[in-house]
Amino acid sequence: MTETLIPKAKKCGNCPPLVVPRRSYTPTRPSCIECVEKHLGAAYVLLTEAREGYAYRLRAVGHLFEAEDEAQEWPELHAAIRDARTRYQTGEQMPDWNDLDGKLGRVRTATVPE
Ligand SMILES: [Zn+2]
Repeated sequence: MTETLIPKAKKCGNCPPLVVPRRSYTPTRPSCIECVEKHLGAAYVLLTEAREGYAYRLRAVGHLFEAEDEAQEWPELHAAIRDARTRYQTGEQMPDWNDLDGKLGRVRTATVPE
């Protein structure tokens, strides 16, 4: 194993520096659609290209959780990712990637000016 203990950079370069408080709660970290996409993409690769082994499952669940955590600013997307993660964890049901991608795309067009 060549993995080191140096933490990887968590920011994508477009991450907002501050947590944006919402009406009912304050997210635990700034929401960033770029990072949501990055983590969903990583989970997708793990779950679709590597179907064996507990390590893949753990890493995929980890990425889904990161995506969920980074999406707190967008309740619909956040809830969809959480549902996908819990369904996968409890029943190993594959996330609906098309649905997640659609929701992510809608947030992206709403937040990133073309
Ligand atoms: Zn980011």
